Amino acid sequence: MPVPEADAVRRTARRLDAALAGHTLVRADLRVPRFATVDLAGLTVLGTHVVGKHLLTRLVADERAWTLHHHLRMDGAWRVGPLGPPGAPQHQIRVLLATDSTQAVGVRVHMVEVRRTTEERIWTGHLGPDIMAEGFDPEPAAGILAAADRPLVEALLDQRLVCGLGTMWAAELAAHAGADPRTPTSQVPGLAGALAQVRARMLRALDTPAGVRRRELRVFERTGQPCRTCGTPIRATKVGVAPMARPTYWCPRCQPPLP
Ligand SMILES: [Zn+2]
Repeated sequence: MPVPEADAVRRTARRLDAALAGHTLVRADLRVPRFATVDLAGLTVLGTHVVGKHLLTRLVADERAWTLHHHLRMDGAWRVGPLGPPGAPQHQIRVLLATDSTQAVGVRVHMVEVRRTTEERIWTGHLGPDIMAEGFDPEPAAGILAAADRPLVEALLDQRLVCGLGTMWAAELAAHAGADPRTPTSQVPGLAGALAQVRARMLRALDTPAGVRRRELRVFERTGQPCRTCGTPIRATKVGVAPMARPTYWCPRCQPPLP
């Protein structure tokens, strides 16, 4: 199963909204020790907002507004449907939200926390501009990345600089920029243009039920396969420092290292 990228996270938010938004919770189990006694039943779900890859499910009751924060990380998922068996082993269920007709089961979801909605920035304040957000401007985002002057793909994965990109879109972005994934960001030409192109692809994927299609990928997980432009075999390497090292992929001919 591919790691959820921001477009997949936003599709998850849409599914949660279809099931829960505008409805009152009749059941809300948070199966994390710190919040196990918090009861959100009786609250009405406003909707699930996304910043980068963070999910913020906003709820209201009377004058009070609460937010349930959650994150899919590598392996989390939400099972949404009519009331019934949860469809996952009990020990993997972190959150169970139910209205009088539908349920949403958070399986292996991470970073589950509840705060007042006014305190959401504790979870998201450190994040850079969100590539999928309405009004995202690639020029200042490219400026932030260039100023960091770090290896391209490593910088793209640092959510404090620009948020929403995972290993797939970071590799694809380097391909759009025509840059070796290790090129220092200050020396990548056309970074703003590459951000805009990848943002457009992410928005298209968001509106495609199955998400991005394998055949649309230029380099990601295509090790040894021919580059779609020049036929050179795609190569793979790791970027970042262990244990945070992540895989990336590139065409050595279309994305040459700096001379
Ligand atoms: Zn190529």
